[in-house]
Amino acid sequence: VINFAAGPAILPANVIKKAQSELYNWRGSGMSIMEMSHRGKEFLSVIQQAEADLRDLLKIPENYEVLFLQGGATTQFSAIPLNLCTSDDTADFIVTGSWGDKAFKEAQKYCKGKVVWTGKAEKYSSIPNQSELNVTVGAKYLHICANETIHGVEYKDYPSTGNDTLLVADMSSNFCSKPVDVSKFGLIYAGAQKNIGPAGVTIVIVRKDLIGKAQPSTPIMMDYKIHSENRSLYNTPPCFAIYMCGLVFGDLLSQGGLEAIERKNVEKAELLYDAIDASEGFYKCPVEKNVRSLMNVPFTMATPEMEAQFIKEASAQGMVQLKGHRSVGGIRASIYNAMPRAGVERLVAHMKAFQARHI
Ligand code: PLP
Repeated sequence: VINFAAGPAILPANVIKKAQSELYNWRGSGMSIMEMSHRGKEFLSVIQQAEADLRDLLKIPENYEVLFLQGGATTQFSAIPLNLCTSDDTADFIVTGSWGDKAFKEAQKYCKGKVVWTGKAEKYSSIPNQSELNVTVGAKYLHICANETIHGVEYKDYPSTGNDTLLVADMSSNFCSKPVDVSKFGLIYAGAQKNIGPAGVTIVIVRKDLIGKAQPSTPIMMDYKIHSENRSLYNTPPCFAIYMCGLVFGDLLSQGGLEAIERKNVEKAELLYDAIDASEGFYKCPVEKNVRSLMNVPFTMATPEMEAQFIKEASAQGMVQLKGHRSVGGIRASIYNAMPRAGVERLVAHMKAFQARHI
């Protein structure tokens, strides 16, 4: 099938096949990666290589720590304010979709969260210009969701923050889809299960000088200092998920790194958006053109019945998981790194044929 799921999502076929070949006996060790001590030399080589390859891919500066954590991006909604703020500090939020909204609501429990811009009234279809932002002087950080998975809104340029205010980004659904200047951020976080691996591991990239200032009540599993001091091995890590991420990082490097990946992603996304825009309103994408996501492409049709028919017929042709998120309806095609161009071409062909039959 061609899998358009938003997450957990498609992984590169060659990576899954490699994992399959090593599943029972990892590189002659006589053990599966799932069966070995996370403190043994075999697993240490896996996590160290994964980190080295991720550093290479994103050109992560030396003064940033890379942490492999658990609990999903959702746990970071609490961990970030707990680690970066006192309960009296203010954290600003730009809310461009449901995930940014969730991050804001959770942060409010641990600091003074403040929404400085929300796209809710326009059903989250845009991203503010710098001039529309009224950031709080002295705010500890400004939080953005770099790609809103449900609404399909993606930052192309990142906002500037005032003076010492840190920029913090949820990159769960566009992590490793394009190059990023890590040095612009205080912290970047991402759940793995869209672009880089199975659910179960969450990557946090955090500037080293920000570590070690957690609120006293911070649970030990959310304290970056603990994880940093223990090289992400304070407790048993999600070994298999980290191993899979490592294979994906290796694969991305062998494809030419993130510049090459971005070029492919732009081409795939253009195919799909061009088909939507050329349909003369038969298909509609609600997102403003300059911030359309390269990863998640939502679109609607005249009626929910027609959309259901479209999805049913796509599924009969092997194109699955195209239903929009339950909170917004419509159709959503997620076209992460591992989606081949041919998959998008098949979808576009279905769109054209479906339209021809319905006008
Ligand atoms: N942030 C974004 C942008 C997401 O797409 C998701 C999940 O889809 C989350 C956060 C929550 O991630 P998790 O389910 O790993 O907690």
